Amino acid sequence: MASLQDLSHLQKKIDRLEHLLSGNNDLLAMLRDALVQRKESWGTGGVGANLSSDSTHRKGGSLPDTLFVPLLSLQLLNVYHLLSFDNPDGGAWKQGFEIHYQGNEWDKQPLELFLVPHSHNDPGWLKTFDSYYQDQTKHILNNMLVKLTEDNRRKMIWAEISYFSKWWNDIDEQKRAMVKRLVGTGQLELVTGGWVMADEANSHYFALLDQLIEGHQWIQKHLGVKPSSGWAVDPFGHSPSMTYLLKGAGLSNMVIQRVHYAVKKHFAQQQTLEFLWRQSWGEDSSPRSDITCHMMPFYSYDVPHTCGPNPAVCCQFDFHRLPGGRVFCPWRTPPQPITEQNVQERALLLLDQYRQKSRLFRSPVLLVPLGDDFRFVDSSEWDAQFKNYQKLFDYFDQHPELHIKARFGTLTDYFQALQRHLSAAATTLPTLRGDFFTYADRDDHYWSGYFTSRPFYKRLDRKLEAMLRATEILFSLALAEMRRFHGDRNLVADFPAQEHFQHLTTGRQNLALFQHHDAVTGTARDHVVVDYGTRLFHSILNLQQVLQSSAHWLLLLDKSLYHHNQSKPFLIMDDVISAQDALPQKTSLTSLIVFNPTEQQQTSVISVVVNSLDARVVNAETGRPVTAQISAVWVEPSRASKEVYIFYPHDNLPADNTLSLSNRHFQIWSSAETGLLQKLRLQSGLVSEVQVQFLWYGTRTGAYRERSGAYLFLPGEEGAQLYSSSEPPVVRVSRGPIFSDITSCFQHFTHTVRLYHLDGHAGRSLEISNMVDIRSEVNRELVMRLISNVASSNRFYTDLNGFQVSAFCRIFPCFLFMY
Ligand SMILES: [Zn+2]
Repeated sequence: MASLQDLSHLQKKIDRLEHLLSGNNDLLAMLRDALVQRKESWGTGGVGANLSSDSTHRKGGSLPDTLFVPLLSLQLLNVYHLLSFDNPDGGAWKQGFEIHYQGNEWDKQPLELFLVPHSHNDPGWLKTFDSYYQDQTKHILNNMLVKLTEDNRRKMIWAEISYFSKWWNDIDEQKRAMVKRLVGTGQLELVTGGWVMADEANSHYFALLDQLIEGHQWIQKHLGVKPSSGWAVDPFGHSPSMTYLLKGAGLSNMVIQRVHYAVKKHFAQQQTLEFLWRQSWGEDSSPRSDITCHMMPFYSYDVPHTCGPNPAVCCQFDFHRLPGGRVFCPWRTPPQPITEQNVQERALLLLDQYRQKSRLFRSPVLLVPLGDDFRFVDSSEWDAQFKNYQKLFDYFDQHPELHIKARFGTLTDYFQALQRHLSAAATTLPTLRGDFFTYADRDDHYWSGYFTSRPFYKRLDRKLEAMLRATEILFSLALAEMRRFHGDRNLVADFPAQEHFQHLTTGRQNLALFQHHDAVTGTARDHVVVDYGTRLFHSILNLQQVLQSSAHWLLLLDKSLYHHNQSKPFLIMDDVISAQDALPQKTSLTSLIVFNPTEQQQTSVISVVVNSLDARVVNAETGRPVTAQISAVWVEPSRASKEVYIFYPHDNLPADNTLSLSNRHFQIWSSAETGLLQKLRLQSGLVSEVQVQFLWYGTRTGAYRERSGAYLFLPGEEGAQLYSSSEPPVVRVSRGPIFSDITSCFQHFTHTVRLYHLDGHAGRSLEISNMVDIRSEVNRELVMRLISNVASSNRFYTDLNGFQVSAFCRIFPCFLFMY
């Protein structure tokens, strides 16, 4: 007889086979497509552009033999099925493999190398935005002006416009003219052009767009150029929503870096690190969304991990780490200054790394970044890097038998050379659809901790975003109305349009700043988080003023009565936040104006606090009552407020010991003891088990250095422990004409399941909300788990940036589905 373990082992095996089968089916479909396309292009007599992106003619055989995929179109979900996630030691390139070449690969087409100097400046992380600017960033930019002007062969790229615009405000006209000259000659390139290098997992597309518009408009206004290449080396995973926005903003190329190491290795083996990233909607989603993407092959964007596969060698070419400085090479062999005596040996050592790296790509054009976090601060560092590399480049130039042309470059220099090569070879890059979540940099270090870090501020971000949208609309309408009212295009004298516009601009910039990959992610230090929180909070308060006076003007029937008085606003907001870290409080109202800032008519439930039992809602225009429901405001789990509530009595517990709620679309059943959901019935009559559980995760201890934290989710070996409490929770049930809900009050959280008696989305979905307070706990994480018998085939759908839906597959070896 099989033991339980055997059975579960067998079950796992079957699961795995099922994945492989579906992966194989997808592969077969791809092969069939490839064949059809091949036939078609032969039929028409021409060599189709797609055909040559097939890798059957892979040269040399220097790459390990792996499962070969025709590279017409890649779907990441299928790629995951091919990976074993076994993480073997790859030698010098730990997460990769040994790269071989013969040496004659570049005889006909020389290696064309672009060394791209960069400095990664986080707009807030260990220090606040302003402190970094004062201590490092302004010196970097000041030195850039001097050092790039000294030699026109030198180049530099810059990404964060929040810093660049702040520095611009500090410099004089003469320096501004120098900046324009450097941009004009292509020595300095502004890449991506966003306000920040945005997080791509937590950010909403409205805010991603906001930070892009803020940066691009600044560049357009002050420098008159448009960015064409994207640079995202530090965000913790990459989303196709971002690429869609970049493409829409006029970019043609982009570089990404933080991708799961197993995916990088696979792409390197297949020579698909460069691809056309395509959106996944529709059967044959349009090539109009394509953007050329370069994925960095190695572990990091620093010098040891960018010149080639061996960090111990590459580190010797980071001349900021010359002996005597503050930084050194942890691989023990330090860099040497380039001299006439050692230049040959050094140049050949570096060339070997370049050649190995080049074998991972299809073209002989090679991109090698040169930089790190907050690099190029002191002028001595500029000299060390630029002078030593120039000596190496000069040596390459004097030795044509080495078949390498090396120079400093920008991203656009690189991508232009790549495109030239691709069109000369009449080939295109393979296309790819999918997203690069969840990121792991090594072992089982999955970066899913940041999906939930500091949720309070993630919510504040959405709050400001919604406020900004509503305010922009009302302010614009108010200005347009005022101009029409006066007929002479003048505004109302009393209306503080300039001041309001400034509030809107600052609001947009603060929202933009918070999209930084250490801000909305929750990975910055505490005092930096308070700085971000204060910016968001002040922006919300300032935007409220703009909203109040704009709405005031729009609502007045007799416009001549308009008078601006900030201390006595015509309207007040029903939501009041008293500090950057405080939960909003509702104020009690007598009349109410509701504004829908979305572009669609919608049915939704609005809740307000009233101070009378006899409260009714009447439509101001028709005088007709509006359907409403009055519920209690709870001060404690079983005590309702006596000032601002109307008590809605408990339901009597039914005899069968379960609680049930229903609307036209479905019915749910919950446990009478805990109030937690157990099953539901859909309109079709189908009953599904959907059990809600709460669990604790601890963190790793002992020998492990890394713990679960802001970035990583690294639970303890004991696994998840069921949440238990000494006292049963207080369970409240309320029923009404608009909604009914069940609330369970546990020591660490309050859990509510609500059903709306409405049509539209609201009626067809179940609203689950948790108010959590685990501040008393250390190194513990609270998790809500849903156990269901839904046949999902291990597919899991989640949204990306509020913009599109993405399918995930449960084949990663670790805890991926923590959101
Ligand atoms: Zn960063």
